[in-house]
Amino acid sequence: MIIELASVEILPKKINAKFAPGEIDLDSEGNLVSDAILDAEAVSKSGKVHIGGRLTADIALDCTRCLEAVRKPLEIDFDSVFVEGAEDELEDKLEIAGEDLAESFVAGGIIDLKEVVREQLLLNLPEQVYCRDDCRGLCPKCGANRNLIDCRCDDDEVDPRWAALKSLR
Ligand SMILES: [Zn+2]
Ligand SMILES: [Zn+2]
Repeated sequence: MIIELASVEILPKKINAKFAPGEIDLDSEGNLVSDAILDAEAVSKSGKVHIGGRLTADIALDCTRCLEAVRKPLEIDFDSVFVEGAEDELEDKLEIAGEDLAESFVAGGIIDLKEVVREQLLLNLPEQVYCRDDCRGLCPKCGANRNLIDCRCDDDEVDPRWAALKSLR
């Protein structure tokens, strides 16, 4: 879905859109596993276009400890600001604007909503996810998933002092 900057008015306009998992590529960061649902508004404020609202989607990510896929629902409230022009053209203006660095520059006056959704998902991916609170992770020695098997590598790691005692028995 495409939004033309010039068509956005001072009166907010509803945007309801849905993106299927195959439409949004999150690189290797994660996978979209449900439709991404966008319930937003486009509005023009002091010459800048705001697209904001709520984005909901289920994402599959690797568990930080054991790398098993974990399904995470995301609910993102956002407000993205768009200004027409190429980035280099606007460098001078940017310095004057100072803090307003959260603005995106749009060449050709067209916003691809899919890109907006993709960016918001990537920005809001959790840094760490766990398949369960007490995930035991992968064994650093043999790489086994310790949630699934007890590889017993830990058993070998007996303190040498205890090992000496053990051999006495
Ligand atoms: Zn895990
Ligand atoms: Zn092991």
